[in-house]
Amino acid sequence: MTAGPAPHAHRHLAPTLRPALAPLPADPDVVVVGAGSAGIAAARRLLARGLRVAVLEARDRVGGRTLTTALRGHPVDLGAHWLHAGPINPLVQLGLARGEPLRRAAQESHLWVGRRRGRPAEEAAFARAWSVADRAMSDGARLGGPDRPAATALPPGLGPWGRRVALVHGLVSGRPLGEVSLHDFPSMEYGDNHFVAGGYGAYLARLAAGLPVALAAPVRAIDWSGPGVTLEAGAHGRLRARAAIVTAPVMVLRDAVAFSPPLPDPVRGAIDGFSAGIYEHVVLHWPSAPFRGRDRLASLTEGRLQPPGLLTRVDGTPFHYFELDAPLAARLDAARAGADGARRLVRASLAEHVGRGLLGDLAVPAVTEWRHDPWSRGSWAVVPPGHAGARDLLKASVGDRIWFAGEALSRLQWGTAGGAYEEGERAADAVAQALG
Ligand SMILES: Cc1cc2nc3c(=O)[nH]c(=O)nc-3n(C[C@H](O)[C@H](O)[C@H](O)COP(=O)(O)OP(=O)(O)OC[C@H]3O[C@@H](n4cnc5c(N)ncnc54)[C@H](O)[C@@H]3O)c2cc1C
Repeated sequence: MTAGPAPHAHRHLAPTLRPALAPLPADPDVVVVGAGSAGIAAARRLLARGLRVAVLEARDRVGGRTLTTALRGHPVDLGAHWLHAGPINPLVQLGLARGEPLRRAAQESHLWVGRRRGRPAEEAAFARAWSVADRAMSDGARLGGPDRPAATALPPGLGPWGRRVALVHGLVSGRPLGEVSLHDFPSMEYGDNHFVAGGYGAYLARLAAGLPVALAAPVRAIDWSGPGVTLEAGAHGRLRARAAIVTAPVMVLRDAVAFSPPLPDPVRGAIDGFSAGIYEHVVLHWPSAPFRGRDRLASLTEGRLQPPGLLTRVDGTPFHYFELDAPLAARLDAARAGADGARRLVRASLAEHVGRGLLGDLAVPAVTEWRHDPWSRGSWAVVPPGHAGARDLLKASVGDRIWFAGEALSRLQWGTAGGAYEEGERAADAVAQALG
């Protein structure tokens, strides 16, 4: 643990919007730890229920793992960008009600096989591999039995298309499917996606406007030995309240916050058992990319280097996201290659598929490193095989004084800002009920 506010990975990239925040009340009923999606949701819900709230945020900005910054004059998301699962995502429903500039994500995508565009028969084979693999994993999870790696449910014989499906599932899961619980699989819900013009981070920042948030106030210790809770927040000193909602990522809770008395063993076990999901954006500015159409995913298959994920022409601009999965990020880290290593990897991968000639105007203005940021330590929490009960276990209060919330607790929308928001509201309702 460090003494002052620790630096965080993207601090040189300022948010496009810093909302005006309210001062903390003198005697809060509830302290919310963290002003990401879950913390913002919890604070809004608690205030709506008439409770006094203080939010303590470690970074010098709100939004957590959502952050919209300006690159070459365009708002670009460095964290969450997709509003997944429209019908069940509270941020879609709220956005529609508020008149936020939402739009549906395109269904069309690009398939590239080696150095050429995919043929209709190849597209059909790829689509078939998706549905066979998804059905096998959903069935494997539904049938119960001992938990096992999601990869073991994949039918053999799907060939290269099956390997591509497994690679993409590993990317969006945050870890290769061999390290992901099969029983957690049905919670992956990615249908009916949306985007918000101006960025997801800016949308969350608008939702934080007027909330009582102290920035640069990292909570180091939570004492729940008495009737309420006492929190130590660095230079902000000590805050007492009747209850706390803790939304710091579980990867951060492993050792950055001391609980006294220690958390009950099952709760501690649930927190420590998650693994860190890795998903990083390498942001490309590439006007002459051969991909047409706005917001389309591109699968570049065959060849030595296959990008696990590529979102092209983001918001109809020359920006694209080249995504790094856990194995690629680990390779860069092992070689201590940093952002320049990521740039070299991108160039080599794209050159293999489109030729060097098209890379003349390719620039890489940002490479994210959420995995090295002390306030996230990863992109989202992953349930390894055998740990499938952890999300639900963390929903119960600790001693009717501490509630956890955040993306890690969401069963149907884990790893998403929408899931985090829903969990923040759930925890706020539980606290409000407990406090009467
Ligand atoms: C590159 C990337 C791409 C992603 N893409 C998508 C996407 O397209 N769609 C999607 O829905 N989701 C996506 N996600 C995941 C999404 O960003 C997260 O699931 C979601 O934002 C998590 O919200 P949260 O409130 O649970 O946690 P956070 O947003 O991490 O909020 C927790 C807050 O707590 C603060 N904090 C931590 N420790 C302390 C402490 N000790 N004291 C005080 N404050 C503390 C943190 O600074 C942070 O502000 C992506 C994530 C990454 C990294």
